[in-house]
Amino acid sequence: MRRKLAAGNWKMNGESTALGELEKLATAHSAPGVDILICPPATLLHRAAQTVSDSAIAIGGQDCHPAQSGAHTGDISADMLLDAGATAVIVGHSERRENHDEGDEHVRAKARAAIDAGLLAIICVGESLAEREAANTLDIIAGQLAGSIPDIVTGENLVIAYEPIWAIGTGKVPTLEQIGEVHDFIRARLERRFGTGVGRSVRLLYGGSVKPGNAADIFAVSNVDGALVGGASLKAGDFSPIIQALE
Ligand code: PGA
Repeated sequence: MRRKLAAGNWKMNGESTALGELEKLATAHSAPGVDILICPPATLLHRAAQTVSDSAIAIGGQDCHPAQSGAHTGDISADMLLDAGATAVIVGHSERRENHDEGDEHVRAKARAAIDAGLLAIICVGESLAEREAANTLDIIAGQLAGSIPDIVTGENLVIAYEPIWAIGTGKVPTLEQIGEVHDFIRARLERRFGTGVGRSVRLLYGGSVKPGNAADIFAVSNVDGALVGGASLKAGDFSPIIQALE
């Protein structure tokens, strides 16, 4: 059985006062029936990890550099994330792919660095609205999976997040059938490439405008093992009911 995962991506949001939301989450979910992960901005990572150190909540980074160290001004390595208290990292988020021109090969190198460092790699895939409207969704996802996932994955060190770009921060959500179609497709691709043992162990998250009001319906879809939540993860009062819907 795959353990469910509720992951929050704070993006470029949150200063010191946001640590209070983590305290609230930790108090509200002292013995959760699912894994809970919060990915704060890098500036908060260490303090966030200290804040939840006695709780069941894990802390993750939002990106890492493929190299272990070196002359990469402004970048952060997977080892540094681990050192700061992270146990996971998101790579290949569409905002990184678009705003920083990150292609599949680059994402794959980041994922490999994350796994080598001992972090859980959460690789994001997802189609644009134009690609969906042109009925290219599954081809796009297939290409991203083939290009972005390194060969060294196991069922334990990889999570795939399906995040349609047009659903992120827009309040628009695919139909449950559309979510199910893509998640079943991702599962089949993973089984084909890595075998059924690994392929069936990797957790698949849906992301894009997940809210307390739609979470339960989305979590009932086949092969949805949790969510990667942006806006609704910033406040414990919004994220808690999403966690509960998964439990
Ligand atoms: P959203 O973001 O929940 O605010 O739509 C999701 C994400 O980008 O991970």
